[in-house]
Amino acid sequence: MSPFHPSRWPERLPARYWLARARVPLSLLAPAPAPQPLLTPASRDAGLVSLLVDDGRIAGIEPVATPVDAGSTTVFDLAGATVLPAFVDAHTHLDEGDLLATGITPARDLAAATARMRDEPARWTEAELRTRIGFALRTALAHGTRALNTYVDWPDPTDPEGPLAWRVFADLKREWAGRVDLHFTSLLALHHLADEAAALTLARTLARAPEGRGALGLVVDAGAPLQWLPRAFELAERFDLALDFHIDQHLAPPEAHIGHVARLARLARERGWGTSVVCGHACVLGALDDDEHDALLDEIAASGLTLVCLPATDLWLQDSGMDTSHNVQRGARTGRRTPRQRGLLPLHEARARGIPIVLGSDHHRDLFFPGGDLDPLQTLALAANAAQLDDAVFEWADTVTTTAARLLRGADASGESGESGASDLAVGAVADLVLHPGRTSAEVLGRPHHGRQVLRAGQRLAADDAVPPDFRDLDRGIEHRIDHRIERWPT
Ligand SMILES: [Zn+2]
Repeated sequence: MSPFHPSRWPERLPARYWLARARVPLSLLAPAPAPQPLLTPASRDAGLVSLLVDDGRIAGIEPVATPVDAGSTTVFDLAGATVLPAFVDAHTHLDEGDLLATGITPARDLAAATARMRDEPARWTEAELRTRIGFALRTALAHGTRALNTYVDWPDPTDPEGPLAWRVFADLKREWAGRVDLHFTSLLALHHLADEAAALTLARTLARAPEGRGALGLVVDAGAPLQWLPRAFELAERFDLALDFHIDQHLAPPEAHIGHVARLARLARERGWGTSVVCGHACVLGALDDDEHDALLDEIAASGLTLVCLPATDLWLQDSGMDTSHNVQRGARTGRRTPRQRGLLPLHEARARGIPIVLGSDHHRDLFFPGGDLDPLQTLALAANAAQLDDAVFEWADTVTTTAARLLRGADASGESGESGASDLAVGAVADLVLHPGRTSAEVLGRPHHGRQVLRAGQRLAADDAVPPDFRDLDRGIEHRIDHRIERWPT
């Protein structure tokens, strides 16, 4: 019988128990394990440990070669099943999540989605936001996420109250404390900083949020006025805000003059901001020729920037071919054109240079992406496929756990990391864990959902929390509408 069969797990786990013969990513163990006998490659038990959980925390980590001294302590024999720290999802858009449930249709192109989004926030009611965001948080909790960062669409930086979604998030952060640790980041285009008064209002609003300050998040896209980048750093320094950029979400090097990321990297290095600056998307890195690509990655590595790869949205939106006459003519023959270039960060090359890499869910079921479910394991599976990540669960788990947690801890300008910092598999850490019956990356990512169990502070989630919410729950609080702006392929 599978060690995960429900009959083998009591609803309420004892206060003290062993998770014996668990396979964990060795790089996440703290301190690093002794090389023998844990790493004996020939052994079927290679990489296995036994974890002692006591009163909600990890109280011991033993190489599997050391027999568990169980005494009267309950032992759950995982027989090589996978144990990961609970997930941290550093890049989501919960205010936009599940917009498709309102009846609108998704876009297939970034420019089209961005243009259509402009009308959206003014239409949102508090009831709808609470419904969609609450649904997202329940979903994330069930998948095993204990902390996440969401961007907040910020249409009017002159409003000292911030957008409605910002105020709803503050309430939900209080309500969800202890279950999902919620972080916020503004989202608006860089050109808004040209208005100094508006920029100051925005920074003050982010800094004085009663439930923990937000990060200053800006969009730097093709043609962005880079002269305002230094102002972002000045605001961040003055108001003690973390900096976070959606940058160069396209595949056209000439449009960016390769200047955006490079300029950002230089500024971060000159001002000593290093790892406090987050750089999401940067798809254009994958479209550079080798020399430019190498030079830019070296520059990023020297700066300390963290790169965030969002495979779901970038694969969906890049090279849709919607906006060039060449592609329209080609597409007209068949009605549709298949994307050929992919919008991925160069993950291997970045990691080889020591650049911190994080994977995020980004959008889910909204104008920008019609799929997704805020599941970091699903994101890891997609990245593994798209970027050929070898042994993704055991070699890249940090991208959705520890490295992501460090990013959020840096964003927490209050200096209190809260639960976001306690992610390592270390003695003394809170036993927030995700268990999966698969014993290898192939088995885990082949069936990412089946048999997953989430432990929080050493206990299973309550039955209602352990499964993602039913989609019909979205019908309450959402006004369904007919969308007449369906994006059609030119014919
Ligand atoms: Zn995003």
